[in-house]
Amino acid sequence: MSKKEKNEGTTRRDFMKIAAIGGAFLGLQSAVLPRSSEADASGKQMGGGGQLDTIIDFHAHVYPPSFKAVPNRPPSLFDVERLFAQQKEADVNTSVISYPMFGAPGKGAPPLDELKEWNDFAAELTAKSKGRIVALVCTNAFGGTPFIKEVERALREGGFKGITVNSSVKGEYLDSPKAFPLYELACELDVPIFVHPPGETPGAEKMREFRLVEMLGRPFDTTLSLARLILFGVLERYPNLKLVAAHMGGALPMLPGRLDFGYALRKDMTFGPWEPDVLSKPPSHYISQIYVDTMGFHPAGVLCALATVGMDHVVLGSDHPPVNIPLKRSVDVIRNLPLAEQDRKKILGGNAARLLKLQKPA
Ligand SMILES: [Zn+2]
Repeated sequence: MSKKEKNEGTTRRDFMKIAAIGGAFLGLQSAVLPRSSEADASGKQMGGGGQLDTIIDFHAHVYPPSFKAVPNRPPSLFDVERLFAQQKEADVNTSVISYPMFGAPGKGAPPLDELKEWNDFAAELTAKSKGRIVALVCTNAFGGTPFIKEVERALREGGFKGITVNSSVKGEYLDSPKAFPLYELACELDVPIFVHPPGETPGAEKMREFRLVEMLGRPFDTTLSLARLILFGVLERYPNLKLVAAHMGGALPMLPGRLDFGYALRKDMTFGPWEPDVLSKPPSHYISQIYVDTMGFHPAGVLCALATVGMDHVVLGSDHPPVNIPLKRSVDVIRNLPLAEQDRKKILGGNAARLLKLQKPA
């Protein structure tokens, strides 16, 4: 391929491949995908009907200057002006910022005062950003009442549009009843919860080379957390809970058939136990309750996610900052997908606007 093609992010060769898949996908779309019921039903709200041209990146991280005290953090995490320049180049109107709560190995979640410090920083940045920044309050899902109170305070007073949690904290996963009060609050206030993996994941000792914790461990942790949420009946218990999973939901969009065959064979103990047996429907039913972002630089993966969770449940996500790849490349992945224009608009901004209740273009 030419040098020019190489520099274009999604290359022409990639595009030809995607177009071939896409031809099949468009047929699949009309054959099996649910139509855009939520958006069609809310045509008056921004994002309804896919009539929005605003581009919203659901997955970005920015830290306050005081967090520079921890060594080896990417400089882009502290450079808001650079983010604004990247937004301009990529035609992104708004970045949704969160704190991924990466602690030192074995340390688990940050303490409440650190989370409050980030929340205060994010509230101030949002207020002066003229719509270029929207923030998600960060918390430890298992922290108990003081953490819940801080989330409620921030959501009611701080201008936050949703919540961020880690997919696990020191091996505790989101099916834990300790997280239920947070889910109840999110449902009561009708705000989404962004599920982001922690810095260190179980099994990290086998993934020290090649940054495999980042490449594999984190999406695996998200996959495991979402699967446990489904199989332990948490999504059945909270049908109105809106979870947005980072990095295309890990491998989950690939796995509905696998979880369903396990469920179909759950009474056959020769395959091992299936307990507790609490679901009233097969696991795949609950996968489509989940939202995912598009972070992963894999167009075919986005198509798989779209086919699995539906056109209304996928949002643009770049992980920029800190991922030091031009923001435009993440947007171009969606721009180059073989989709109907109204569906492309949903992924680029309409679905996020609806989830975050952004009433008018930023
Ligand atoms: Zn991230």
